[in-house]
Amino acid sequence: MLSLENTKKWLTLFTAQLIENKAYLSELDTAIGDGDHGNNMARGATALNDALDSETPEDIPSLLKLIGMTLVSKVGGASGPLYGSAFISMAKASQESSDLSLLLEAGLEGIQKRGKAVVGEKTMIDEWFPVIEAIKENKLTVELIEESVQLTKDMKATKGRASYLGDRSIGHIDPGAMSSSYLFKTMMEAGVY
Ligand code: ADP
Ligand code: MG
Ligand code: MG
Repeated sequence: MLSLENTKKWLTLFTAQLIENKAYLSELDTAIGDGDHGNNMARGATALNDALDSETPEDIPSLLKLIGMTLVSKVGGASGPLYGSAFISMAKASQESSDLSLLLEAGLEGIQKRGKAVVGEKTMIDEWFPVIEAIKENKLTVELIEESVQLTKDMKATKGRASYLGDRSIGHIDPGAMSSSYLFKTMMEAGVY
């Protein structure tokens, strides 16, 4: 269940992870993309921290919307609009409910509406989908979050920049799935789940 407090805590933990793992995320993206995923996400993280310092959203929908708008405008690349759409869709859904799986499902729909990817195409979807399924069944664990990222390694990318590599994308972890794993691990740490 989301509250204003635990959502803010979640965001703070997430941005710290993104900044800490900036080099690693870009390294993953160097193997199958253009090497900027860590830089993109770290730039977004700094912008999110600034936005939270200067603005005081007073309810969950306003906070989620602020996160989404900041990500869209500051992250760039493919991941900015995708993460941004996720949070903007979550903001809309949160006007009706604060149930976590409903909100994340809305977020996933937002990502899919924009990026048109489905499960198995080696994208962040391959992290979001199993995590949401596990939440619905009340069995989300850190292990599941980490294993799902590892499963992207053997997938062949058919969406995004990594798809240009075809079979050569096989054998590398998807950077967006990795950054999404930080999102979900910090969600647990913040007590949102
Ligand atoms: P860019 O590829 O524009 O440089 P990033 O490197 O920041 O952007 O983000 C790459 C990540 O975005 C990928 O690892 C993948 O997880 C995600 N991604 C790319 N295209 C899609 C898509 N169509 N649907 C979902 N996720 C995608
Ligand atoms: Mg990239
Ligand atoms: Mg790029």
